[in-house]
Amino acid sequence: MNRTMLTYLANISIRRKLMLLIMLTCGLVLMATTCIFVIKEANDIISTQRKDLASLADILSKNVASSVTFDDPQSALDTMSSLTVKTDIIAAYILRSDATIFSRYIAANAKTKDVPFEQLDQNSPPADFQKVLKQIQLSSHQFLQLSERFSMVAPIQLDGQTIGTIVLFADLHELKSRLLSTLISAILVLSLAAAAAYLLSVRLQTIISLPILNLVDTMRSVSETKDFSLRADTPGSDEIGQLYDSFNEMLQEIEERNLVLRQRQEHLQELAHFDTLTRLPNRVLFHDRLQQAMNLALRSNQLIAVIFIDLDRFKDINDTLGHRTGDLLLQQVADRMELVLRDCDTVARLGGDEFTIFVQDIRSQKNACKVAQKLLDLFEIPYCLDGQQIFVTCSIGITIFPDDGETIDTLLMNADIAMYHAKADGKNAFRLFNPEMNQQASERVALQTDLRKALDLNQLQLMYQPKFDAQTGVMIGVEALIRWQHPERGMIPPSRFIPLAEESGAIQAITEWVLSTACKQAKIWHESVNNAVSVAVNLSAYSLKRNKAPVMVQEALEETGLPPHLLELELTESMLIENDQHAEETLHDLKKLGISIAIDDFGTGYSSLSYLHRFPIDALKIDRSFVWNMNRSDSDLAIVVAIIAMAHSLKLTVVAEGVETEAQLASLKKNGCEIIQGYLLGKPTTAENIASNLQKKKSR
Ligand code: C2E
Ligand code: CA
Ligand code: CA
Repeated sequence: MNRTMLTYLANISIRRKLMLLIMLTCGLVLMATTCIFVIKEANDIISTQRKDLASLADILSKNVASSVTFDDPQSALDTMSSLTVKTDIIAAYILRSDATIFSRYIAANAKTKDVPFEQLDQNSPPADFQKVLKQIQLSSHQFLQLSERFSMVAPIQLDGQTIGTIVLFADLHELKSRLLSTLISAILVLSLAAAAAYLLSVRLQTIISLPILNLVDTMRSVSETKDFSLRADTPGSDEIGQLYDSFNEMLQEIEERNLVLRQRQEHLQELAHFDTLTRLPNRVLFHDRLQQAMNLALRSNQLIAVIFIDLDRFKDINDTLGHRTGDLLLQQVADRMELVLRDCDTVARLGGDEFTIFVQDIRSQKNACKVAQKLLDLFEIPYCLDGQQIFVTCSIGITIFPDDGETIDTLLMNADIAMYHAKADGKNAFRLFNPEMNQQASERVALQTDLRKALDLNQLQLMYQPKFDAQTGVMIGVEALIRWQHPERGMIPPSRFIPLAEESGAIQAITEWVLSTACKQAKIWHESVNNAVSVAVNLSAYSLKRNKAPVMVQEALEETGLPPHLLELELTESMLIENDQHAEETLHDLKKLGISIAIDDFGTGYSSLSYLHRFPIDALKIDRSFVWNMNRSDSDLAIVVAIIAMAHSLKLTVVAEGVETEAQLASLKKNGCEIIQGYLLGKPTTAENIASNLQKKKSR
């Protein structure tokens, strides 16, 4: 088989290969069978012919023996003329014993040129006849060599003596026609068998090729649709069936692997785009969606509100109740937020307690405010965390695209600024961004930068406001109040820079400085004037939270040598409430140092009385707003009276701050307030002025 044949075979379909195989096998078998059949048939015919000729020669030799003996050729010819009925005999010769022709019979239709004796000359010597006779005898033994004729030589005997020879020539015509008809019927049978084999092979090859083609079809649709859940219907349990099973198993495996892969991919996708704690979109996804929404909004002239939400005092909750509770809170906040928003709005967690939302297609700022109010309302119901009910609020900043910014970064930055304003304005509120805020924000940043240097540059100073015994009018202490002398902006009040210092962390260094300066000053007064005047220092929430206060206070006392009872710390109510457990420990640590503790701005915060007895407190400072209004508003007076009564029942000293009028002083005295502080009796002043006041009093 040459190369092209091999490639042809390799490339034709299995169907054709099978067909070819079946047809080839059948063809070969049929051909071999036919050949054997035809050869056997030919042999049979030849041997019959041979027998016929032999018996004919035998009969003739007996009949012509006397004619030869009596040398009567005519009677021999008469005898031979009976051969006319035998159409296949073309010639018969009777030869004498010397091999000369005694008598000849030639059939009417015979072609004499075919007969060997007729080729000899009439006068040929007997030797030539002998030679031809020998040849005839030789060839008569080779019947199978199908030449043009048959010949039979038989001796003519009389009384055991050979007196001549009879030679018969027979035509092969009949033999050939019989052989031909045998061949034709064999070919016919062969064709029929081939046709049957073809039909059978068509049927058989479908049994084998159809399942293979089906499998190929299934494979093709799997590869086209990538649907690995497809299966091929197993046709049986033969090798093809096993092929199906293996193929299906392979698909099953791929499907399972794909599933695992898909799950991993989804997980990765989720990690990349969703916040793991709240399952909300993260910064990346938020950016993505907002950018799309912005593109759309630009084309359709729509507005988008970008809302920035920051939980108020979240750090305190985290610090005091633990991170687990903090996480729970964030999850619940996220759940609630999703409830109030439409499907097309996106709420995301940027990190920590910061959430962002964008609301598409708002028609005006008003709509954005409505959404913000809805969000604030979410916080009116307390959160239930680990069985505890906790009230949380949030502050919200809003920017509008494209009015307040054209990029996501600007929008978020501006929303953050607006949120900061909501916080600065008392928290639990929302603010719409306006460009002025930006300026304030940069001013804030500038102030914060300056504040970091203020301590080193000696720009901070302390003023002292005296506190007086309400009954005797004697100055019994002072409150240290910080001032920042800014080189360009002039005097900056603490209400402006203390929140900045708390935000940036600079408060720690400032508090340390205030404590040590105030203690140093009080020690000087104590020694020089020998007067027991206490100094009160305002403590920032930051110091209490980080549990830094006890160490700071101890260091200040040790460093200056001030007797601890001359130092008082002023804390606000909210600081205690927010810190609760932690604050209680810190306060006890502070108390152990021997100092006094006062609650500042009392009445403005939670005013929950239940907590007071838990803390080691010495004094309450009634907030100046109540003092200012106590002679104008009955309810404010009632509050002041109630605070004093309650403080006394808890054995606490009561201080009234912000006392500006004689009427206020009189009312306070009447209701039993022990200590008075306010512009009426003394404004915050320098340490020197306090010293000279003390001196004066002493010399008086
Ligand atoms: P505060 O502790 O309630 O201090 C009293 C504030 O009321 C002081 O304002 C004082 O000047 C003012 N004041 C006193 N008497 C009167 C009065 O009769 N009428 C009026 N209108 N005001 C009066 P200041 O000094 O501006 O301090 C504001 C706040 O800043 C303080 O409120 C305190 O919370 C905080 N602060 C002051 N110094 C420090 C400090 O060293 N550290 C910390 N952490 N906070 C401080
Ligand atoms: Ca104070
Ligand atoms: Ca106060």
